[in-house]
Amino acid sequence: MFDTLTESFKNAIGKIRFHDDEKALTRAIDELKKSLLKADVHHKVVKTLLANVELKTKHLGVGKDNFLRVLKEEINNTLSVSGNQGFVFASKPPTVVLMTGLQGSGKTTTTGKLAYFLKEQKKKKVMIVAADLQRLAAVEQLRQITSQIDVTLVADENAKPVDLVKVALQRADKELFDVVLIDTAGRLAIDDELMDELYNVKQVSNPDEIFYVADAMTGQDAIKTAITFKEKIGISGVILTKFDGDSRGGVALGLSHQVGVPLRFIGMGEKMPDLEQFLPDRITSRLLGGGDIETLAEKTVAAIDAKQAKKFSQKIKKGKFNFNDFLEQVESVKKLGSMKSLMGMMPGMSSVAKQMGEMDLENSGELKMIKAMISSMTLKEREDPELLTNSRKRRIAAGSGLDQVQVNRVLKQFGSAAKMAKQLSGKNGMKQMQEMMKQMQGGGGFPIGRK
Ligand code: GDP
Repeated sequence: MFDTLTESFKNAIGKIRFHDDEKALTRAIDELKKSLLKADVHHKVVKTLLANVELKTKHLGVGKDNFLRVLKEEINNTLSVSGNQGFVFASKPPTVVLMTGLQGSGKTTTTGKLAYFLKEQKKKKVMIVAADLQRLAAVEQLRQITSQIDVTLVADENAKPVDLVKVALQRADKELFDVVLIDTAGRLAIDDELMDELYNVKQVSNPDEIFYVADAMTGQDAIKTAITFKEKIGISGVILTKFDGDSRGGVALGLSHQVGVPLRFIGMGEKMPDLEQFLPDRITSRLLGGGDIETLAEKTVAAIDAKQAKKFSQKIKKGKFNFNDFLEQVESVKKLGSMKSLMGMMPGMSSVAKQMGEMDLENSGELKMIKAMISSMTLKEREDPELLTNSRKRRIAAGSGLDQVQVNRVLKQFGSAAKMAKQLSGKNGMKQMQEMMKQMQGGGGFPIGRK
């Protein structure tokens, strides 16, 4: 996620080799200054951050450990401002959230993603209110999203937003919803009419949170409009979308500090699972190459059904892994979001993530081929790959539009994957897995936590 920034922090840390080498510290600070500015971090934020790092490192004594410690503290300070972090529930449900933002910022998609996050990871009962009646397509978009993620939608194209919100909140009380997300009107630019409408919706809904959704690709403009929204209607958090397209990432680093409200979530893609909490401690760790195992673990636990996972691991141990299991696993992995963002959360793997680019598991040619093949098998064959004799393989090839060489190749790969899974789940499995990871990283990795 912060490929460029992570890389420049790594380089700067590498510059300090000796104790008492103030020249090295100056070189490291200079390099950081250049990279942070290039990554579109605001110059005032860069100045304060680096002045503090220099002063504190000198005070403690120049050296790699002190530099790293101070850098970590100061990045964390830059990312943290007073206010809620992540998603905070009101003491008395429902938690009411106004989703605000300009048209095209990703507000509607983000409302869906947030509902998905609350439902899947926090196990909450969520309602979305389609009060963006400026853009009628937004209502239809929410209909599609909510039916896809199975969340309640309250919509009425003929009602006034204020009336719709009143009705929705009464229903939320009666039916014990935990969270109500209100998608408010967007505009191409800020105008008085928009602010009046938001003000009225705010008055009737008395929200616990007002989130401003901003497009990361607009750089420092995203920050300027967030400040205007804060002044006019009072926001309590910002969600930065399209972060997957902004390889520089600097806006996220300075945003909380500049706007004076915490950055709460970032959008990492167009799909529902592509939303991540922005928690300063975890982001600092990621920026310094230490990964973010906690977020990865939370995502994994939410996506994988414990019973299914147990059944699956028992099957693997016995070497009995069939095509139905394979399809189930693919579905679980899809819920985790993009492969690139997952890799970026593993310690020392951010450079691998960068090399991977956007590997789209769902639409890869290989996977399509395997799925076509599986759908041409009988139920028995799916359960027991060993039934596949030559004549059956010919039938499957004809049914799936593949040739027999392709079918044989996939079956062979499938066989070796099952074998490898069995080995990895054995006694020395973890060790083998670590070996594999090391090879993928080229034996390198990053010095955090390794002193
Ligand atoms: P709204 O007008 O603010 O409601 O914007 P939409 O929710 O309709 O989003 C505008 C476009 O941005 C759509 O094509 C979304 O799929 C896309 N989008 C939203 N969030 C993200 C994100 O985090 N990453 C990427 N790549 N695209 C996004």
